Amino acid sequence: MNLLNCKDCLKEISSYLDGEMEPDLKRHLEEHLSLCHHCQVVFDSARKTIELYCDGRLFPLPLEVRDRLHRALRRRWEEKAS
Ligand SMILES: [Zn+2]
Repeated sequence: MNLLNCKDCLKEISSYLDGEMEPDLKRHLEEHLSLCHHCQVVFDSARKTIELYCDGRLFPLPLEVRDRLHRALRRRWEEKAS
């Protein structure tokens, strides 16, 4: 069940990356990202941008959030590769 369309999804990505998102909404976003390649690509580039900031220590993203993102993305990639 996917309750988000692409527009909603992209709008929520920044909240997701900030770690400021309701658990239910987060679940829906993750579901959408698992199904929609377009949003996945956008999400991935957003994540990479944040990593650049993190490396420069300009933007202290919580480790838990980063870790969650990494695991989620890695899982998608593994599913895609298999
Ligand atoms: Zn989408």
